Amino acid sequence: SIGFINGKYVALDEKAVPIEERGHQFGDGVYEVIRYYNGEGFMLEEHLERLEKSAEAIRIDLEGGIDSIRTIIEEGVKKAAIPDCSVYLQITRGAAERNHLFPKDVPPSVSMTIKPMAPFSKEMLNNGVSVITHPDERWANCYIKSLNLLPNILAKQAAAEKHAYEAILYKDGKVTECSSSTIFIVLNDTVITTPLSKQILPGITRMAVKEICEKAAIRFEEREYTTEELFSADEVFLTSTTSEVLPVTHIDDRKVAEGTPGNLTTLLMELFKAKTGQ
Ligand code: PMP
Repeated sequence: SIGFINGKYVALDEKAVPIEERGHQFGDGVYEVIRYYNGEGFMLEEHLERLEKSAEAIRIDLEGGIDSIRTIIEEGVKKAAIPDCSVYLQITRGAAERNHLFPKDVPPSVSMTIKPMAPFSKEMLNNGVSVITHPDERWANCYIKSLNLLPNILAKQAAAEKHAYEAILYKDGKVTECSSSTIFIVLNDTVITTPLSKQILPGITRMAVKEICEKAAIRFEEREYTTEELFSADEVFLTSTTSEVLPVTHIDDRKVAEGTPGNLTTLLMELFKAKTGQ
C-alpha cells in the first residue's frame, strides 16, 4: 500500500495533513474510488469525468484539470506495482485558517491511497447478502461524491449492527440507493433501477450494468419504485466499485423470492466479471 499527498509519496500512517485542512475540518472536498484489475483502471475515464463534475459542483478549481489527476493516479499505480488494487483519490479545498468562506489563493489538496484488493468473498457472491432498509436522511445533492458521508456512515453502521451488509435508503416511500452502492430489482425479467437525478450518485458500476444489459438484450428500465415493489421483487442486487455485482437475498429479515441469488443476477455477475477482464 502507498499514500500520496500534494506531490509527495508517504506511508499510510505518516502524519501528513495539517490540522487546519478543509477536508479534515469541514469535509470540504470530493473523492473517487477506482478499481484496477490486472493493471488496468476499470472505467477510469468515467471515474475521472465524475470527479471533475463533483469538483465543479462544489467550485474547486483543479489546476492542470482532470489530466493532472489522471497522471497522479497512473504514476501512483505504477509506483505501487499492485496489479489488483483500489485507488482512493480525494480533492479538498486545501489548508487554511478555519473559516467557512472559501480561502483565497489556496491550492486544492490532492491525496491518494493505493491498496491491494483481494477477490471478493466467494461466500457472499454465492449466497448473496442480507440488507436492511433505512430512511434516506441525506441532502439534496447526492450526485456529488462529497466527503460528507455522515448519513451514509450511520445507515451502514445500523446495517452492520443488524448483521446486514448494506442499507437500502428510501425517501417518500421510494427507493433511492444504498449507503455506498446502487440498488437494482428484477421484476418480470426487467432490470429496474432508480433514474439518475440529483438525489443519487451516478454509479460507474451502474453504468457498466446498463451497458451489459443493452448488449445482452436484457430489458433495463430506469424508473422510481417503491419499497413495496422492492419487497415483492423477483431478484435484488447491488453494485459498486468494491462490491461489483452482488446478490441481495434478504431484506429486513425477509427473503427476496426464494432467498437465493436470482438467474438474471447470476448472469449479470458473469458478464460483469468478463467486462473487467477477469
Ligand atoms: N451510491 C453511493 C452513495 C456510493 O457511495 C457508491 C460507491 N461509490 C455508489 C452508489 C456506487 O458507485 P460506483 O459504482 O461508482 O462505485
